[in-house]
Amino acid sequence: MKIKGVHLPGNKEAHVKKWDIPDPAGDQVLQIKASALCASDLSIYHGRPLIPGYPPGTFIVGHEPCGVVSGTGPCARSVKEGDRVAVIAFVGCGHCPYCRGGEPNLCENDMEVLGFTTHGGDAEYLLVSERSCLPMPDGMSFVTGAVATDAIANLFSTMKAMHVCGNDVVAITGLGPMGLSGVLAAAGMGATVLAIDTVEERLAKARELGAQHTLNPENVSPVDYVRETFPGGVDKGVDCSAAEPAINVLLDIARKHGVVSQIGEPGERMIAVNPSEQLIRKKVSYVGSWYFNMNEWEEAASFIVDKVGNDRAEGIVSHRYPLEEEAAGEAFRLFNAHETLKVVFTPGS
Ligand SMILES: [Zn+2]
Ligand SMILES: [Zn+2]
Repeated sequence: MKIKGVHLPGNKEAHVKKWDIPDPAGDQVLQIKASALCASDLSIYHGRPLIPGYPPGTFIVGHEPCGVVSGTGPCARSVKEGDRVAVIAFVGCGHCPYCRGGEPNLCENDMEVLGFTTHGGDAEYLLVSERSCLPMPDGMSFVTGAVATDAIANLFSTMKAMHVCGNDVVAITGLGPMGLSGVLAAAGMGATVLAIDTVEERLAKARELGAQHTLNPENVSPVDYVRETFPGGVDKGVDCSAAEPAINVLLDIARKHGVVSQIGEPGERMIAVNPSEQLIRKKVSYVGSWYFNMNEWEEAASFIVDKVGNDRAEGIVSHRYPLEEEAAGEAFRLFNAHETLKVVFTPGS
């Protein structure tokens, strides 16, 4: 079958072309309604894919899609034609202890990821296994569905792992789409949010999405601000910037027994911290966080609809584009230039 899908040849260009995709076999056919761009897509855009071994342009990109099931395989049991579903980006083997526990991103046998090692969702259609389909609640729009997995559910899972509650002050550094998803998640859980970034428009967006406190560290020292406003320190911190100063700020302002989660990825860069002062003497936990557990999906999805609200969740999306040649070029150009928040393709709408 021939379908339209986004092609990133790896030279900072994005095109929409017709692809020959295999017959569905046992997979379900999903008609894509929305598919979000992710910073990790830019590794392919620049010709250095995050997952080596698959040259840029091998597959249709996109790993944050959602849509409507338009055809089911012969063995389908839980999905049927017409179902609205989001898709988990990691395929996984389905059998190892991590896959069975709901974390195909930690699979021991298979690092298969949509858009990187197999065709992705910036397309008209996508073939997916039944276990990759995450049912979307009625109140969730397709645009929200596209940012509900990798972005919002990811941060929902992070906040949950830290036991964030209404009594907590949660500091978040780096207010791109991930940090703003953190604002949505923490505020939705009733926490007081302190959002930190050097870009004023992002601070304004964080306020709009529920942060009660915002701070530009170029103007105000976060350590001084927290000393005056939250004596003893903040309960929880989440870094979405991957910047060494921001990570150190969070470890400095964490209270005794506080927890700091690392989401922003420094990649090859090493980050210097002071374990004695920042971790040991405060008994602070500094933990890595990556994606969400599939078993959290239903809870995350109803949290997004009931506590965050669909319209507010769409607030992390700044640009929507049809699946067309010129639109794809502009979408990736602006996203790459950091001139957007989340960018979503809306094929067939
Ligand atoms: Zn992503
Ligand atoms: Zn596995």
